[in-house]
Amino acid sequence: MDLYAPFVRHVVAPLHALYEGNPIYSILRELEQTQWLSPEELRRRQWEKLERMVRHAGDRCPFYRERFAAAGLDPARFTLEDFQRLPALTKADIRKETPRLQAEGMQDVRIRQGRTGGSTSVPLEFVVDERSAQRKGACALRHNAWAGWHPGDKVAMVWGATDVDSTFKLRMRNLILDRRFALDTLRLDEAMMHDFARRMRSEQPRVVYGHSHSTYILACFMKKHGYAAPTVKTVVSTSTVLADVERAEIENMFQCKVFDRYGCEEVSLISSECDRHEGMHINLDHLFVEFLQNGRPVGPGECGEIHLTDLTNVAMPFLRYKVEDAGTPTAHVCSCGRGMPMMEKVQGRVADFIVTPDGRVIFGVSILDNFTAKFMGLERVQIIQDVIDHLIVKIVRGEGFDEKVVRGFQDRIPEFFGKEMRYDLEFVDEIPREISGKYRFTISKIPNPFQEAAGRAIGRTPPA
Ligand SMILES: [Zn+2]
Repeated sequence: MDLYAPFVRHVVAPLHALYEGNPIYSILRELEQTQWLSPEELRRRQWEKLERMVRHAGDRCPFYRERFAAAGLDPARFTLEDFQRLPALTKADIRKETPRLQAEGMQDVRIRQGRTGGSTSVPLEFVVDERSAQRKGACALRHNAWAGWHPGDKVAMVWGATDVDSTFKLRMRNLILDRRFALDTLRLDEAMMHDFARRMRSEQPRVVYGHSHSTYILACFMKKHGYAAPTVKTVVSTSTVLADVERAEIENMFQCKVFDRYGCEEVSLISSECDRHEGMHINLDHLFVEFLQNGRPVGPGECGEIHLTDLTNVAMPFLRYKVEDAGTPTAHVCSCGRGMPMMEKVQGRVADFIVTPDGRVIFGVSILDNFTAKFMGLERVQIIQDVIDHLIVKIVRGEGFDEKVVRGFQDRIPEFFGKEMRYDLEFVDEIPREISGKYRFTISKIPNPFQEAAGRAIGRTPPA
């Protein structure tokens, strides 16, 4: 029984926030109430925030003044249709127009610098004002609570480049307040995995939090080496698409439910699962989320490119930001009773799409779920499409690998990718990670509608 956890939750954490002048817990209380409002009331409030943000952007940002004029949008009075005429804000816009995107006259507002980068190798820099960052932090706490994770719970993190122990101050903070220990996914090797598995047993964390795929890799490793899982109450996965097979493996290892969430560095939490696991609730307190195909909104159940309008960051407004992910809105009303709308799986974040010679576009994660997951004995697979009708299938052999697997591949590749697809199997000792520490399951050099999305840097949702 960890008696220190409730002490942190009820005493240390609120006192620390008070000391820092951070209203995160009062914002959290507000968010815990508003989540039960009706969808209509939440939408009404969201629209009010959107109107305020558009007026603010028109008043303070030269970039948007021009955009609004060109799109014929009057920030003082506009409809949804007017707003939808506004061109998307692209990553190229942000890189090129950073100074003109930042609001003028904000000298008295404290700001935080943000940066995201990674697999695209083109870093994106932005700023977030302190108040917005606090609201984002409170929102993450709300979603943590959905998963049963409260301040003070000891957390095992599976994460790239954490800084929990980098300075004396951070070490003290971590010991007293954050209570995290991490498996650094930037430098994984067998010895580190063994150390982490043993540490989990001695530290007995209550929460596992990490990149979806890396957490899955950890669960597989623990299973393979016969490690008993600590008694955790929840696993929270983020940053990469959580495939069904990964969820099953993680839940089986840790004997609890996985709470998947979706976010990015630029706007923080976008959506997350509640305890009903019927899809992800969209964080409409802080965001206006659009799903578009060729610039038009898609209907429920249809996949669209995700565009985000941040309703709180006044230092650098993001209006209709094309985040380069795709997702599916749904009309499903969650049985939990929360009024926040739902979306289904996010696509496009760990793998490229494969374009087949017969004109189909197959998402890499679907290949993972529906093709390679059918074969036992594979440690890792990476499929590289170098030309339209050729695949290089890199395979790291695992336990139980034999000739049957090879024959299985030979049989199923034409079935899955079409008869015109040629292929070479390459057996390798390892498949290198992306610079972010994550694996990219499929790489395609063939342009397709989601090519840019598939290759994007995956934003790290800051741990709250
Ligand atoms: Zn729900």
